[in-house]
Formats: sequence, C-alpha cells, structure tokens
Amino acid sequence: MPRCPHCREKDSEVISLFGTQAMTLQYRCKRCGTVFEAIKYD
Ligand SMILES: [Zn+2]
Repeated sequence: MPRCPHCREKDSEVISLFGTQAMTLQYRCKRCGTVFEAIKYD
C-alpha cells in the first residue's frame, strides 16, 4: 500500500477503484483519515 502523504502511515485502505486520473486509486489512511490518490499497485 502507498504511504499516507500526511502522516506517512502505510496502513491505508482502498475506498474507490477510480481516481480522478487513469491508473490511480483513492485510499483512506487508517491512522489519520486522510483521503488521497496514488498510482495503482499490481
Ligand atoms: Zn495518515
């Protein structure tokens, strides 16, 4: 999983399979609740 850009936590969950750009997913950090987008990991 990608790191949270706010607190650097690695424990995030996918909340949407579709970000605003192709090949990005939306994640929510389980520690601080920040929603962010990151490139899809295979
Ligand atoms: Zn965080």
